[in-house]
Amino acid sequence: MEDPAGVSGQSQTFLLQVLDTLPAAAYTCDVTGLITYCNRNAVDVWGRTPRINDPADRFCGSYRLYYSDGRVMPHDECWMARTLKDQASYNGQEVVIEQPNGAIRWALAHANPMLDAEGRLLGASNVLVDITERKRFEEQLAYQASHDSLTGLANRSKLLESLDQALADAERRGEPFALMILDLDGFKRINDTFGHEAGDAVLMQMRPRLQKVVSRHDLVARLGGDEFGIVLRGADEARARRVAAAILASIALPMTVGDRRLTVGASLGIATWPNEGRNASDLLRHADMAMYSAKRSRTGLEVYADSQPTTIPHEHSLACELSRALEQGAMELHYQPIVDLASWDVVGVEALVRWPHPERSLIHPIDLMPLVESHGLSTQLDQWVFVEAMRQQRAWRDRGLLLELSVNLSIESLLDDRFLNTMLELIEESPPYRMTVELSERSVVSDPGRAQQSLDRFRTLGVRVALDDYGTGYSGLDHVKLLTVDEVKLDRSFVRGLPGSTTDARIAEAVLSLSHALGLVVTAEGAEDDEALDWLVAHGCDRVQGFCLSEPLPPDRLVAWLESTDRTTRRSVAEFLLEG
Ligand code: C2E
Ligand code: CA
Ligand code: CA
Repeated sequence: MEDPAGVSGQSQTFLLQVLDTLPAAAYTCDVTGLITYCNRNAVDVWGRTPRINDPADRFCGSYRLYYSDGRVMPHDECWMARTLKDQASYNGQEVVIEQPNGAIRWALAHANPMLDAEGRLLGASNVLVDITERKRFEEQLAYQASHDSLTGLANRSKLLESLDQALADAERRGEPFALMILDLDGFKRINDTFGHEAGDAVLMQMRPRLQKVVSRHDLVARLGGDEFGIVLRGADEARARRVAAAILASIALPMTVGDRRLTVGASLGIATWPNEGRNASDLLRHADMAMYSAKRSRTGLEVYADSQPTTIPHEHSLACELSRALEQGAMELHYQPIVDLASWDVVGVEALVRWPHPERSLIHPIDLMPLVESHGLSTQLDQWVFVEAMRQQRAWRDRGLLLELSVNLSIESLLDDRFLNTMLELIEESPPYRMTVELSERSVVSDPGRAQQSLDRFRTLGVRVALDDYGTGYSGLDHVKLLTVDEVKLDRSFVRGLPGSTTDARIAEAVLSLSHALGLVVTAEGAEDDEALDWLVAHGCDRVQGFCLSEPLPPDRLVAWLESTDRTTRRSVAEFLLEG
């Protein structure tokens, strides 16, 4: 090794030993920047030791140097060069060194001019303290503070930051942008039925699905639970809608979790700058309201509009009241007649729940079911409905009125052993006169195997099974093949458009021919006028249910309706409607 300061003999050996024990890179250079000495630990920061007296390593020329903000540091501007130029100390600035193999080290650089006895400049002594580990830790902390640990997506505070940035840019350039809030549908059900690990796995699969659709300038964040936020830079409403549709399609693809195939849906709300909000809090509130509204109406996607109700009902207190109402059985069932299209007989009724809220008007399922689902009250509700509807059916039978009873069942209840056993016992003890359980097609896609096992237990007891909302499931028409059922209920979204909409007519025809080929009864829901009814008769639909015959009615009004329709022919139904 070179003699750094002209010391010699024993004291030099001692000094070099001390320098080698320093937990830092210590080295010297001459006035031209040639390296004249370096200690053993210099290798840590430099990757290899700088070469002594090698012009290639002048001012460490064979390494790339950077300032801490990432700018390249020219070699003649580095700490040694500056110290030699200014003949002054350079103290503890953060620098970044790129080693020959590309590895990056952070260091605090110190440099001091070395002078001889006459005060002439000999060179510089330099010390680099490696702070890479500390830097990594700081970066990790910063990352954790702005990211969600489960999905690795940005978190709420990062989204707010990005929103502020987008607002500043938008105001400067007058360029629109959109905020989306997305909430998974039925996520609680996955958590409750398959466990939190399955729930976590579903959330983790959201990251690639969402990021695949957005561009790299956009930000996707998990806001908590099963809620996500997306900032779409430069997007107007049209682009936001396109991205939203792609997101919904991407989420709807089945996913593999453990050995199961699951499907989840989502509801999405959009608010764009500047029309639907000029600041972050308005945009967030409006996107949230639009999402809430999409969830309620099951449309999947909604853009905020001023017409939207400005107050979201106090969900929590409403849920408490609902839970109490369920315990006290303070709910109502209305019954909608189902008519056989060959004989025009009223063959049965579907029980549909309503909540007579003490201060509001009657709360209908469109507002009630999201509350029930999100607060885990589905099974409690279904149990009450089953017991009450069966009691009502018995009461009618005692009066000589034989009506098949259809009840809706949520998938949570179907997969809940306690519920299932209790209900099956009840059915065995006092068998109903014909009963059908209706299960929404959308709800079974997540685990058709388990659903079938439970449905089979109903079928063994003579209870029929209907696939509800048929045609709205995500995977086309093959659920009837996957499940053994007795009936499909063609969703009212297709029936509404009959006969005018050719798409609806084609879907209805396909459902009818497929179902009939499989020997299933088809009930069309939501027939609102005679044209739809005529089409259904002409195309061989078996049963119908809809406002053109009757709305769901409370039990006493249903009996009055049945009596007035007498033999329940189509003509008498029409007469009844005329009477008002
Ligand atoms: P759903 O099982 O498809 O029930 C049929 C819905 O269509 C009912 O809405 C009924 O009022 C409506 N409807 C019938 N005919 C027409 C028509 O001609 N035009 C239009 N526009 N609508 C018609 P409702 O009673 O609001 O129920 C909505 C959904 O809530 C039901 O859809 C069902 O999925 C759920 N639901 C209702 N009651 C219960 C229940 O007791 N338990 C469970 N688990 N779900 C229920
Ligand atoms: Ca139904
Ligand atoms: Ca339905």
